Amino acid sequence: MRLLLLFVFCLLSWTAHAALNVFACEPEWAALAQELGGDKVAVTSATTAFQDAHHIEARPSLIARMRNADLVICSGSELEVGWLPLLLTQSGNDRIHPGSPGFLEASQLVVRLEIPRVLDRAMGDVHPSGNPHVHLDPRNIARIATALTTRLTELDQANAGTYRSRGDAFQERWQAAMKRWQQQAAPLKGVPVVVYHKDMSYFINWAGMREAGSLEPKPGLQPTPTHLAELVERMKRDPAKAVVYSPYNNPGAARFLSERANIPSVMLPFTVGGTERAKDLFGLFDDTIDRLLKTVK
Ligand SMILES: [Zn+2]
Repeated sequence: MRLLLLFVFCLLSWTAHAALNVFACEPEWAALAQELGGDKVAVTSATTAFQDAHHIEARPSLIARMRNADLVICSGSELEVGWLPLLLTQSGNDRIHPGSPGFLEASQLVVRLEIPRVLDRAMGDVHPSGNPHVHLDPRNIARIATALTTRLTELDQANAGTYRSRGDAFQERWQAAMKRWQQQAAPLKGVPVVVYHKDMSYFINWAGMREAGSLEPKPGLQPTPTHLAELVERMKRDPAKAVVYSPYNNPGAARFLSERANIPSVMLPFTVGGTERAKDLFGLFDDTIDRLLKTVK
């Protein structure tokens, strides 16, 4: 009995030791790390689908979580510029500083959209380094998953075999899902939509849709009456098929345009946890495509 207890104790402490602590800035990266790491990783996300990742508070509880992190994965491209640098410094954890193996910036691994030709931080544009919301193109998820798998094997060599086989299994499921999504999303080609914040650009690009406008006059600037009135006018000349918004947006402006221009509005999950069906990355794309198809048909 004593031997058995000792064995269980060793097993428990080994498991605790083996787990990599992953700190994700956004829910999509937490979900991806969980898919790829399984029970070898303990994952936490700094934000939920109901929070605007551009603007959260660098709370002490987040600093504490970052102190224990072995790997930090964030969208980057200045999405978290208002709070991540502070967390990194305050954590005193040098394993996860930018440039070290414990730091992964997802947007640097893909082709970024909307990189401004002229750098202009004036007027409060929160996308000065291009659009950071890269996760809504499923091809980007595949690419980032490959890099994340490699990073996990480097940081936890003892479990490298597990990460590799989980990575292969994920890629296989993801490729099959992408084929399905491509077929399902075919009717969305060319369909014009108005977005709230420019957080759907990668999905719109992947699906071949058209962005007919955004409720924010510039990324990060709240909708103004003047801008909304202008959009209503524009919709008369060039009507969109839907006004889309995310769970962290105030739906008021979307409803306003929807009513004035007589265009349906729909909330899309935006990230994992944004709707009940978007429980994981697969559900995120399933639900986004279905909601759009139902709205624009
Ligand atoms: Zn943004």
